[in-house]
Amino acid sequence: MSLLVVGSVAYDTIETPTERREDVLGGSALHFSYSACFFSPVQLVAVVGEDWRKEHTVRLESRGVDMSGLEVRPGGKTFRWTGRYHENMDDRDTLETQLNVLADFDPKLPEAAQRAQFVFLANGVPQTHLRVIEQLQGADLVVADTMNFYIDTQRDSLLELLKKIDGLMVNDSEAKQLTGETGALAAARKILELGPRFVIVKKGENGAMFVSRHDIFLFPAFPTENLVEPTGAGDTFAGGMMGYLASQGTADSETIKQAIAYGTIVASFQVEGFGAEKLEQITRGDIDERLAKFRHMVNF
Ligand code: AMP
Repeated sequence: MSLLVVGSVAYDTIETPTERREDVLGGSALHFSYSACFFSPVQLVAVVGEDWRKEHTVRLESRGVDMSGLEVRPGGKTFRWTGRYHENMDDRDTLETQLNVLADFDPKLPEAAQRAQFVFLANGVPQTHLRVIEQLQGADLVVADTMNFYIDTQRDSLLELLKKIDGLMVNDSEAKQLTGETGALAAARKILELGPRFVIVKKGENGAMFVSRHDIFLFPAFPTENLVEPTGAGDTFAGGMMGYLASQGTADSETIKQAIAYGTIVASFQVEGFGAEKLEQITRGDIDERLAKFRHMVNF
């Protein structure tokens, strides 16, 4: 079944306690696509500026990502984000966000994208997400991600968006910031009152929690011993989950559990390299092998 992602494509500058790199290929929709394409074809809709390097389009196309919805804006500059990780490699500070071409991105979905059945609205401007939803023709599942930046600056649009989606993915701290609650479960329950029928709260190396009106599932993170750089972990988690759901053509609760397990595994690979480096090196076989280890670890 068809899978669409709309979000940011970026050049990131990333500082860890031991290394600093500039112009790292990044962005929410990009990391999502790198992950989802292990499971299903993906259509990406995003905007970049004229500094975008064509070789990056080619790289994604070679992985089965349909890039026909990537707008390359003449005279524009690609979205740029700079982040610095703390010693613990889990917390990070955003040092700079330059929205550039993302600020007034007005996506026009190609016809095939309008008919997508599975849709992920990766971190991006909530007004843009609302315009995407207006163009969809009967999607089965629409899931969105959001972050502190938009909770701070565009809360009203975000609240409008929440009424129109099936699922929301947020970090622990963002769920609390959005709702004013101090506990993750209370925050998730409050988000359910705002619209979506499920919420997935991501807790970094502490895993993730799925909450709907009738269910709660907990997933630990897969413990990797080779943590290099965690940017994109959330987006690749989402990509694994949505990619698997699209490959199965359903989003019932058993399939969602399996999908979240896949998301967990792809995210565990993502943190083992800078940018998309690690996902370029692995295969679907590596993912399935690690999933089997994960199943053994959580089975009791
Ligand atoms: P994650 O580590 O999963 O939260 O995703 C990090 C990615 O999100 C980076 O590659 C950034 O380029 C991108 N990103 C950071 N801030 C924003 C923002 N305000 N809007 C859209 N994408 C963003």
